[in-house]
Amino acid sequence: MATTTTPGTERAHAATKRYIYAWGDGSAEGDGGMKDLLGGKGAGLAEMTKAGLPTPPGFTITTEACNDYFAAGEKLPERLWDDVREAMAEVERRSGKGFGDPANPLLVSVRSGAKFSMPGMMDTVLNLGLNEETLEGLIKLTGNERFGWDAYRRFVAMFGRIVLGIEGGRFDKPLEAKKKARGTDADTGLTADDLRELVDEYKRVVREATGRDFPSDPYEQLDLAIKAVFASWFGKRARDYRESQKIAHDLGTAVNVVTMVYGNMGEDSGTGVAFTRDPNTGEATLFGEYLTNAQGEDVVAGIRTPSKISHLADDMPEAYEEFRRIGQQLEQHYRDVQDLEFTIERGKLYMLQTRSAKRTATAAVKIAIDMVEEGLITKEEAVGRIEPSQVEQLLRAQFEPKAREAATRIAKGLNASPGAAVGRAVFTADHAVEWVGRGEKVVLVREETAPDDFHGMAVAEGILTARGGATSHAAVVARQIGKPCVAGSAELHVDSAGKVARSNVSGLEFGEGDWISVDGSTGDVFVGALPTVEARFEDQPELQTILGWADEFRRMEVWTNADKPEEAAQARSYGAQGIGLCRTEHMFREGERLEIVRGAILIANQATRLKTRRDLGEELTADEVATIAEFDAAMGRLEALQQGDFEGIFRAMDGLPVVVRLIDPPLHEFLPNLEEQLVKVTKAGDQATTEDRELLATIQSMHEQNPMLGLRGCRLGLMIPDFVKVQTRAILNAQIAVKKAGGNPKAKIMIPLVGHVNELAATRALLEGEAKAVEEAAGVNVEYAFGTMIEVPRGALTADEIAKHAAFFSFGTNDLTQMTFGYSRDDAEGGFLLRYVEGVILPGDKEPFQILPVNPFQTLDDAVAGLMRTAVEKGRATRPDIELGICGEHGGDPESIWKCEAIGLDYVSCSPFRVPVARLAAAQAALSSAERDK
Ligand code: ADP
Ligand code: MG
Ligand code: MG
Repeated sequence: MATTTTPGTERAHAATKRYIYAWGDGSAEGDGGMKDLLGGKGAGLAEMTKAGLPTPPGFTITTEACNDYFAAGEKLPERLWDDVREAMAEVERRSGKGFGDPANPLLVSVRSGAKFSMPGMMDTVLNLGLNEETLEGLIKLTGNERFGWDAYRRFVAMFGRIVLGIEGGRFDKPLEAKKKARGTDADTGLTADDLRELVDEYKRVVREATGRDFPSDPYEQLDLAIKAVFASWFGKRARDYRESQKIAHDLGTAVNVVTMVYGNMGEDSGTGVAFTRDPNTGEATLFGEYLTNAQGEDVVAGIRTPSKISHLADDMPEAYEEFRRIGQQLEQHYRDVQDLEFTIERGKLYMLQTRSAKRTATAAVKIAIDMVEEGLITKEEAVGRIEPSQVEQLLRAQFEPKAREAATRIAKGLNASPGAAVGRAVFTADHAVEWVGRGEKVVLVREETAPDDFHGMAVAEGILTARGGATSHAAVVARQIGKPCVAGSAELHVDSAGKVARSNVSGLEFGEGDWISVDGSTGDVFVGALPTVEARFEDQPELQTILGWADEFRRMEVWTNADKPEEAAQARSYGAQGIGLCRTEHMFREGERLEIVRGAILIANQATRLKTRRDLGEELTADEVATIAEFDAAMGRLEALQQGDFEGIFRAMDGLPVVVRLIDPPLHEFLPNLEEQLVKVTKAGDQATTEDRELLATIQSMHEQNPMLGLRGCRLGLMIPDFVKVQTRAILNAQIAVKKAGGNPKAKIMIPLVGHVNELAATRALLEGEAKAVEEAAGVNVEYAFGTMIEVPRGALTADEIAKHAAFFSFGTNDLTQMTFGYSRDDAEGGFLLRYVEGVILPGDKEPFQILPVNPFQTLDDAVAGLMRTAVEKGRATRPDIELGICGEHGGDPESIWKCEAIGLDYVSCSPFRVPVARLAAAQAALSSAERDK
C-alpha cells in the first residue's frame, strides 16, 4: 500500500478519508515530499506553487483514492464526488471562472500522475469542460474564433481517444484529409471553419464508435476522465512498464485537475519541454524544445518540428528569461537536474510540471561531478546518484572505428540515446518480442513510438524512429532503459504494414529481418551488422573520478577473477585490488600442455600406486620404475610451464594478493570425448593403435555419471597428489623468481570443493611440506597462505571446523547455488530455470505463476546468502581475522554485492569488466548501511 503522509493542512471532506489536496494563489496543501500520496506531478505542482512559481490553480486526487476505487470494485469512494465538486468550486474562485459557465468558462486538464513517472499511463486530457455553450463563451472572451475551435477539436479527439477508448487513427484521418484539402502541412494552416467542420466529423466518429453522443455536461466529462485515469493504472501498457521497471502494482496513480492555460492563443503563446541541463551530455545549459501557438503534447508528438529552447530568447525574451531563472531555482531547490513542462499564454509563463530528469549514463556522471563542484551535492550523494547499470553502459561496446568508416550509411537521425546497437530490423513491438523470443537480436524501427510500443523497446537492441525530437517518447524511454536510439530520421520512410523502410537521401532500403547497425551516439544508421569494440575505461576520466569517490566510501575491497596476466593487468587498470580467483585449468589445456597432461593422466593412477609402494619400501621392477619416471617427467614439464604462467600473473599483480585455485575440474575434461574415442577405435578395428585403445580404456574407466559431483576439486588432489604438489611448487617457485627480480608477490593458495574438514587438513599437510621444501631449497621465504573455497553446503555448515585449517574463505557461489538448489547450472540455465523465472501456467490460471523471482545464478539467493552468513559467523568464531570474499559470478552483480556487504565479507571478486560496477555498488551498499546504522 502507498504510505500516507500526514497532511500539513486541514481540509474538510465529505468522504471518510481526505482524498484531495488543492493548490493555487501561492499556497498549496501538499508538498514535494508527498509523492506517495500525490504522485510526482501533484507533489511537484504543490512544491512549485509554495515556492512562489507561476502555476495554474488545481487539485490532486490522491493515489489512495485510486487504490480504494479498485478495492471497491471500480467505484469512486463514497462522497468523493462531493469533495471533487467542492475543490472545483475552489478552483473556480481562484481562477475567477466557472466550470460550465458559458459567460466565462473554466476549462481544466485531467492528468494522471503516479509516484514514478510512467510512460505507460493515461495521456492527459486537455480543455475539459468544453461544449457548444462554453465554446461560445471562450470565443467571445478571447475574441479568437480559431483558437476556440482549435481547443474544441483537440478536446473531442483527446477525450474520444483517451477516455472513450476510440482508436486514435479515426481522428487523425479526417485531420490529415482536411490538411490535404487545404494544401497545408501544419495544423496551424487550418481556419476556424475547417476546425468547426472537423469537430462535426469527430462527433460523428464518437457516435459511431460508442453509440451515444459526445458527453456535453462538464461534470460528466470530469467523472469519466477521473475514472479513465484510475483505470489506466491497470492497463496493459502501465502493467508492462511496471513489470519491466520493478515498480509495485499497488502504488496507484493520482489524478491532477489543473486550470487550463492556453499555448495556442497566437504567436505570443506557446508550449515546451526543457531540461535544466543537457540530458545527453550533461552540459550545464538549458536544453529543450518549444512550439509557438501550440498546445499540450504537440511538442512531443512531432506534429510540427519544434524549435530549440534557445530560440525562445529571441521570440519571447521576457518569458525566456523568467523560465531560465525558474529552471535554476528549481534545480537549486531539488538539488538535481529538472525536466520541466511549461506553457506561455499571451506572453505569460506557467509552469506545468517539474521532476528529476532522466539522463544518459554520460550525463549522469558529468552532472554528478559538476554538482559536487558547484557545492550543490556531496560526494556521497554524487556516488549514490549513479546507477550501476549506467557504469555498465559507459563501458558498453561502440562500433569498431575502421568498420564504421567503411560502412554504408542508410540514414541519419538524431543521436537520441548513445551506444551501438546491431540487430535485425522489425517494424512492430509485437514482432520485436516474437523475434527475440526465437533468440534473434532486433532493432525496433517505427515511424514514431508510443507507450504501446514499450514491450518491444524493452527487448530490442536499439530503436530507430523517423519522427520526433530529442524529447520524443522514443528518445526519453530509450535513455531511461539504456538502449541506443536514433530518433527523428526524417529522411526515412517507414512502412510498418509493408515491413520496409527507405531513405529518400541514400535511396537505400531495408526490410524485416535485414541486419542494421544503429549508432545512438552519432545518429547514424548503417547497412549490415558492424563489429563492435568495448568502450575504453582509460578514456573516461569523469567515470574514474566518480569511482575514485566511491572508493573512499566503500568498506569491501574489489578483486577480480583473472586467469592470465593480460586479464589481471586490465582488471588492475579498472581498479581491482587483488585476484580473488585465478583458475589454473587452462594451464593444463593450452597448446603442447594438453598432450603432456593426457600422457600423464593415462598413467597417473598407476604411477601414484607405485609411488605409495615405493615409499613403503617395496622393491619395484624396472618397468615400474620407468613408469614413475615417465610420470614425473611429464609433471616436471608441466611444473616449469605453470611456473612461467604464475610469474606473469604475480608481476601483473605486484604487491596485491593473488588467490590461486588448485586444479578443480574432473580429469576427463582433459581427455578426448568418450563417444568420439569409441567411434575412432571401433572404426579403425584391427588397425587401431595401442595408444588409442589405452586412451579409450582410460576414458571409460574415468567415466562418471555425475562428474560435477564426482572426482574433482580437493578430491582429485587427494587421489593423485602430484597434480596439486606440482602446482604448489610452481606457485612458490614463481614467487621466488619474481621476488628475486625485485617484485612483491603475494600468494593465497586455495583448495576447492572442501565439504569435510579432513579433506582440507589432509591436503594442507601435503602441500605445506611441499612449499617449505621449495623455500628451503631456494633459501628464500615468500608470502603465501592456504585457504579454501566454501562452495559445498556441508563446508558452509561446518565452517568453524574448516576455519582451523584455512587462513581465508572464498565463497564459490556458483557451485554453492548449484548444490543448495540441487540444480545443474549447465543444464538448468538453458532449460527450466528460464520458465521458473518467467512463470509457469497452472491449470485453470491465466496469469503465469512465477516459481523464482530471479535467476539465482545471477543474483544471490537469500537462502544461499544465509548459508554464507552461517559460514562467516562460524569461520570468524574460530579465527577472528579470517579473510572472507566471494569469487562466484555474483561478485559482480550489484544486488548480490549489497548482500555481501550485509553479510560482512571483506571483498568481492568479479570478472575484470565488472570491476568498475562493483566499485560503485560496493560504495552504495556501504553508504546505505551506514545510513541505516545512524
Ligand atoms: P505527461 O505525464 O505525459 O507528461 P502531462 O499531464 O504533463 O502529461 O501533460 C502533458 C502536457 O499537456 C503538458 O506538458 C502540457 O503541455 C499540457 N498540459 C497539461 N495540463 C495543462 C494545463 N492545465 N494547461 C495547459 N497545458 C496543459
Ligand atoms: Mg503523456
Ligand atoms: Mg508532463
